[in-house]
Amino acid sequence: TTSAPQAASIHKSGKLANVCYDIRGPVLVRARQMEDEGHKIIKLNIGNLASFGFDAPDEIQQDMIRNLPNSAGYSDSKGIFSARKAVMHYCQQKKIRGVTLDDIYIGNGVSELIVMAMNALLDPGEEVLLPAPDYPLWTAAVSLSGGTPRHYLCDESNGWLPDLDDIRAKITPNTRAIVIINPNNPTGALYPPEVLREIVAIAREHGLIIYADEVYDKVLYDGETHTSIGSLSEDVLTITFNGLSKNYRCCGYRAGWMIVSGDKRRARDYIEGLDMLASMRLCANVPGQYAIQTALGGYQSIDDLVAPGGRMCRQRDLAHELITAIPGVTCVKPKATLYMFPRLDPKLYPIANDQEFIAELLEAERVLLVQGTGFNWAQPDHFRLVFLPYEGDLREAIGRIARFLETYRNR
Ligand code: PLP
Repeated sequence: TTSAPQAASIHKSGKLANVCYDIRGPVLVRARQMEDEGHKIIKLNIGNLASFGFDAPDEIQQDMIRNLPNSAGYSDSKGIFSARKAVMHYCQQKKIRGVTLDDIYIGNGVSELIVMAMNALLDPGEEVLLPAPDYPLWTAAVSLSGGTPRHYLCDESNGWLPDLDDIRAKITPNTRAIVIINPNNPTGALYPPEVLREIVAIAREHGLIIYADEVYDKVLYDGETHTSIGSLSEDVLTITFNGLSKNYRCCGYRAGWMIVSGDKRRARDYIEGLDMLASMRLCANVPGQYAIQTALGGYQSIDDLVAPGGRMCRQRDLAHELITAIPGVTCVKPKATLYMFPRLDPKLYPIANDQEFIAELLEAERVLLVQGTGFNWAQPDHFRLVFLPYEGDLREAIGRIARFLETYRNR
């Protein structure tokens, strides 16, 4: 008898060598294990609204249920008519001009469209400018698509606004595009029109595409308003991403869209690539697409949550007050989103590896955060805090963080 040859180990593709997505990384795996062992973990790690009692609007759910019998077939690859028509109307409200039905793609959340947009664009060696800190899917999508991510700094001392000089300094002949996340995850920053205009001017000068992730454009506090960068030019090719996940509290329905605006003639070939990738995945989840028209045209209940005294606004205020009361912790107060990105003074907290720091906090206090380096922030001196839990849980969680940091200082 001959024995079977030793089977070779199965390894992942080299394409994944530089792909990283720490929000659902190893510390989350450990947290799951601890939950399985019976521990209750307070999760300040993921912006999943439904799991904190932020229910999706009833009308959206009812409309989806009503349309379920019509949703069993594939739709047009770029999306159903009513959803794209509603997004077109939305473009009008946001003053993004010249958008036709054909310029709108519906996807399984913004996530799918981000990966699609990068895949259709990049050849090896081509560079994309991304914010640091960023929502790490963007960096991961650039790497997965064979491109090279180049991070420009957002300036904490200036409300986390993009550092325009750093953007200019990082442009090379290989730069194809610039990504902005506005409102920003993880910092909660909201970019004023002056800054957006400067970014448009830089993109125009260097022939860059602008990718604008605006998935939090209705989660705004203190009466702030949001400007879509796509509304500020008719020439620079701009791709704007948005969806129902956050503004309408239904991440699980996987409904998002992307809008192509600006000089589309120059981008004919790229648009052909986008169309091909949209066709290859046949279509986005159809029941989710049916929710889009109702959501955009319905009662904007997010306004009540973010208004002074509304639940999200109260939780933002409380989390910010409590976290900044801890010695050596400073934090720019978010103007938008569900997140803040506090800084730990390295003199008091000499952290060498922030993933280990977050893992230690989890073991000691059963509170789960995400480390700053998970957002492509280079120094191990920040973390992201999600302020979605009810006030009682937030107080408890931040109290535990404070206790952990006290022991850390006294080591
Ligand atoms: N973009 C940003 C900035 C996000 O924070 C998220 C989710 O947290 C996404 C995109 C993904 O959104 P979707 O649920 O539409 O895929």
